[in-house]
Amino acid sequence: MKTSLRLTALLCALLFTASSHAAMKALIVDGQNNHDWKGTTPHLKKYLEATGLFEVDVATTPDNKGDMSTFKPDFKKYKLVVSNYNGQDWPKETQAAFEEFVRGGGGFVSVHAANNSFPNWPAYNQMIGLGGWGGRSEKSGPYVYWEAKAAKVIKDIAPGRGGSHGPQHEFAVETREPAHPIMAGLPTKWMHAKDELYDRLRGPAENLTVLATAFATKEKNGTDRHEPMLMTTTFGQGRVFHTALGHAGGGKREAQQCVGFIVTLQRGAEWAVTGKVTQKVPADFPTADQVKLRE
Ligand code: ZN
Repeated sequence: MKTSLRLTALLCALLFTASSHAAMKALIVDGQNNHDWKGTTPHLKKYLEATGLFEVDVATTPDNKGDMSTFKPDFKKYKLVVSNYNGQDWPKETQAAFEEFVRGGGGFVSVHAANNSFPNWPAYNQMIGLGGWGGRSEKSGPYVYWEAKAAKVIKDIAPGRGGSHGPQHEFAVETREPAHPIMAGLPTKWMHAKDELYDRLRGPAENLTVLATAFATKEKNGTDRHEPMLMTTTFGQGRVFHTALGHAGGGKREAQQCVGFIVTLQRGAEWAVTGKVTQKVPADFPTADQVKLRE
């Protein structure tokens, strides 16, 4: 009798634990991208689900010969949308539904070339804060970079193109907001795996917080400036985490295998939904001089 009571209590405790940690529904959007989206979506899904916080669906648009008017995901079913998309405009109705989702408090994560998307969709550019390519220019908003001497973010309205990068290489990522929940506890400087170092991004940059930057050296055709790599914005009640990291193509995706990419994605996704981060920093996080990769 005693044993069965104990078993019942244990079972109740287990059930309670399981239900109190019910996964949040997340949606990855893909289908068009000048990057290997077919290879990276399963990778993003795997590591979002590895947190135990998310259960991830995927919504894939038609290809660029298909009928985009059929693309109408039900964003309302989700707490988080992650974009692995860089392609044709979505139908107006879908754009409106997405705006409503984020404005109403939905979380959004923009990965790498998702910030190339939709140069002519003002609300989307407010969400991502900064973007590149697609004809972006001074009309899109300022350049944003970190001025090391003054230790502050500069918004620069100088005319010029939005978005460029030199050859891929390993580079250091440096924290600029160490107390932010996404960054708290991470090393303040860590080596990122071979990636494109996006520079000259520009956009509305409203409600933008630059969490981390990387120095774009002239030797790698960079701007000689500390460029935003990890950012947050808010849009209405919604929180957005924007990682400029994560190039993938030609059968390679080491930029997304970087433990720094993975962990900041996981933490950024949680923060976008809840405003908090409960995840511990893993032991295999990269250091100031060592890149760390996972499968
Ligand atoms: Zn890329």
